[in-house]
Amino acid sequence: MCGIVGFIGQKQAAPILLDGLSRLEYRGYDSAGIAVITPQGTIDLRKSEGRLKVLSDLVHGGADLNGCIGIGHTRWATHGVPNSINSHPHMSEGGKFAVIHNGIVENYVEIKEFLIRQGVHFQSETDTEVIAQLLEFYYNECHDFFETVGRVLRRITGAYALGILCADCPDRMIAVRKDTPLLLGFGEGENYIASDVTALIPYTRDVVYMDDGEMAVLTREGIQVYDPLQQPIEKEHHHIDWDVSAAEKGGYPHFMLKEIFEQPEALRRAISPRLKNGRVVFEDMKLTAEQIRAFTRIFIVACGSSYHVGMLGKYTLERMLRRNVEVQLASEFRYSDPIIDDRTLVIFISQSGETLDTMEALKEAKKRGAYVLSIVNVVGSSIARGSDDVLYTWAGPEIAVATTKAYSTQLAVIDMLALAFGEALGTVDEAEYAAVVSELQKLPEKMETVLAHHEDIQKFAAQHFNHNSIFFIGRNLDYALGLEGSLKLKEISYIHSEAYASGELKHGTISLIEEGTLVIALGTYSKLFEKAMSNVVEVKARGADVLALTTESRREEMLKTVPTVLAIPDTLDMLLPSLGVVPLQLFAYYVALQRGCDIDKPRNLAKSVTVE
Ligand code: GLU
Repeated sequence: MCGIVGFIGQKQAAPILLDGLSRLEYRGYDSAGIAVITPQGTIDLRKSEGRLKVLSDLVHGGADLNGCIGIGHTRWATHGVPNSINSHPHMSEGGKFAVIHNGIVENYVEIKEFLIRQGVHFQSETDTEVIAQLLEFYYNECHDFFETVGRVLRRITGAYALGILCADCPDRMIAVRKDTPLLLGFGEGENYIASDVTALIPYTRDVVYMDDGEMAVLTREGIQVYDPLQQPIEKEHHHIDWDVSAAEKGGYPHFMLKEIFEQPEALRRAISPRLKNGRVVFEDMKLTAEQIRAFTRIFIVACGSSYHVGMLGKYTLERMLRRNVEVQLASEFRYSDPIIDDRTLVIFISQSGETLDTMEALKEAKKRGAYVLSIVNVVGSSIARGSDDVLYTWAGPEIAVATTKAYSTQLAVIDMLALAFGEALGTVDEAEYAAVVSELQKLPEKMETVLAHHEDIQKFAAQHFNHNSIFFIGRNLDYALGLEGSLKLKEISYIHSEAYASGELKHGTISLIEEGTLVIALGTYSKLFEKAMSNVVEVKARGADVLALTTESRREEMLKTVPTVLAIPDTLDMLLPSLGVVPLQLFAYYVALQRGCDIDKPRNLAKSVTVE
């Protein structure tokens, strides 16, 4: 969600803050602001509603702000409308403190009332402002920056990543993290904070991920991290090895299109190193065959597209393992009093590894004794670090808000996991194992064939971009695939869309089908092809315009009923969604393009959702 950047060094801070924030724009935000401590020892604060460009123009690319220490923020409003007063940084009334905050202060009402009783005047409607005012309130008592921050942390509850400036201490900045990501960047004579490593790539590769409850004091010379008891600690450094181009568009009009086309390569990265002599080898997994056999319950927990991967994972795992697998939305799971013990495996799936709902569900699962295995893209992220085992998807940085390559690689990892578990349990026969391995290897190439036909989908999107409502129908794997296709479309084109299990239509929703309604019929799953066809006939009979997706081998058959058919290469049923999702991603993309939508940064959405 919102972006945090902080800099302390010898150079002008403002241009670096604006540049860092621009690299976080993809995360979604509604207003932006920066603050620096001037050589005169005052805090210079500028903010504006809307895109970062507005702020940047306002301050002439940062040239207007003089000072070598500063903080910058892009806000995703939770408390108070998105306007320039509510945007961050927030300053204390006396002008001593400026703070940027990602997250929510849950007890802000009570603190605000307390401070108002003490005579403090508030400017904004945000929860964040109480932090700025409380800082000054305590500082007036103790006159010590470090001690002041400690007191504030003991007083506030909720989730927060904070960057704090104190006008009396122009040689230092304090950063704090609890339940919201924050990392520290180490440079030569300069140091940084950021909510996402993307912001720092041009400046440093040497980073430390902060953990919950930690506080860091940054000076030009170095960074000291403190544990929750405010004792100094040493932290492990991480080296970021991807380059700037990975986070640039490379000639594509949008990150989303670039990332759709990067999928075959991302799949190769996720699959190849894990297939050795025809076997799935998770060198990065600690879980033993004996432990796998001892599990009596398996959950998959995730949000959004990762949840759709979980649904597909359930179908595949249950079929291969003959074990019950429960899939749950993270936001529901954590409050569901889940039945979990030390013989339960919970698989968490998250692109960013920072999704708050998933992270909180993970804590709940661990508290109840479960073994936690996560499938995550961002190395070193909170979910990765909080898990007993992590399988990285190695998809590379995903910038567009709507996920594509992270989804595909998650799916490949869960398919490989099914093989590994099937082997441990002895439930997958050798012939099937070998067939899946062989088809997994061919998957990237087959996906390239699908991508080569992108113009067919573009044409189709050009004909159908002005629908108000679109249905996706399918059975079993095709149903879960439809959920993802529908979500992609909704996310970026703002067209209302529903995904239905085809057999369920007649139990209600078919009443919505009328002359000209667009139905995207998914008929790739060979076992249920005939059943899926009956449902296509049903909607056609009610006047629907149908686009069908099937496999090459079924194309002719499908054409007998539906005039417009897109076909993907044949492969094993369980791998079909990996290919089938590509035309659906492209359809959503081209429809959104036709409608002039902000594809990489759809309204109201954020890349990593770090609020509840
Ligand atoms: N809760 C704060 C606000 O609404 C922070 C929002 C954010 O994380 O951007 O101002």
